[in-house]
Amino acid sequence: MATRDIEVVIPPREPHFVGDGFRVHNFIPSAYRLDMQRMDPFIMMDYNSKFYFPPSDKPRGVSVHPHRGFETVTIAYKGKVAHHDSSGGGGVISEGDVQWMTAASGVLHKEYHEEQFSRQGGYFQMVQLWVNLPAKDKMSKPKYQGISNAQIAKFMLPDAGGTVEVIAGNYQGTEGSASTFSPLHLLNTHLNKGGKADFEFPENYNTALLVIEGSIKVNANENVPTDHFVLFENNGEKFSIEASENATVLVLSGKPINEPIAAHGPFVMNTQREIIQAIDDYNMGKFGYLEE
Ligand code: MN
Repeated sequence: MATRDIEVVIPPREPHFVGDGFRVHNFIPSAYRLDMQRMDPFIMMDYNSKFYFPPSDKPRGVSVHPHRGFETVTIAYKGKVAHHDSSGGGGVISEGDVQWMTAASGVLHKEYHEEQFSRQGGYFQMVQLWVNLPAKDKMSKPKYQGISNAQIAKFMLPDAGGTVEVIAGNYQGTEGSASTFSPLHLLNTHLNKGGKADFEFPENYNTALLVIEGSIKVNANENVPTDHFVLFENNGEKFSIEASENATVLVLSGKPINEPIAAHGPFVMNTQREIIQAIDDYNMGKFGYLEE
């Protein structure tokens, strides 16, 4: 079985604000080589690297906006986010939790720092991923999976190396907690200094990792520091990581859906006609209602 080589290590881009609550580095689809097709089915990744928000009486965030045609996955590393959507879904996610929202045919939602967190201020660190849906599922019913850290399946690495949290897919026989529409793996890996983990995915699966904390060595030769993103080639199945210091690493790998992508802001469909339909439906109020 062949080793999967690193294609490129990508440092974080200049951050920008989404609303006033998320200070993010975009990796997908704006970084070098990382367009929506390259990491298909992962079509967007915004990363709020660890950032201190001072206390505020008015919670910061993003006000009501629509999505159609994909899923939004938010992984909280620090801080708390409150979320509401027009299908009635919602909740608060805290450190270690994941919210997996299937926008599909369309929802309105809003994402804010949780009230108490806002009042106290504090460090905030999150990943938001957009996972594309196959054409046949794009107009399915919206749904929401709120996954607390306690509900996430965990695999203990040998030699007290650390823990792999299986958010979706599987790791060495441990099945992930989220249900998905296409085959993919999303693994939040906590390594103790010197801890090692091996990963194996089919060669055609688009595969990457993001170093959230600490630093690692990939395939025993490439050092990758905090907040850096590694895009792997599709030239093998296996790779390994080793923690140079205590580290947290988000590993993502998915089978490409290989369908045309037409994207416009919060809508990701297969054709331009479907984008125009999404805009019309949104303007006609077909995404429901959600109070600001
Ligand atoms: Mn959103």
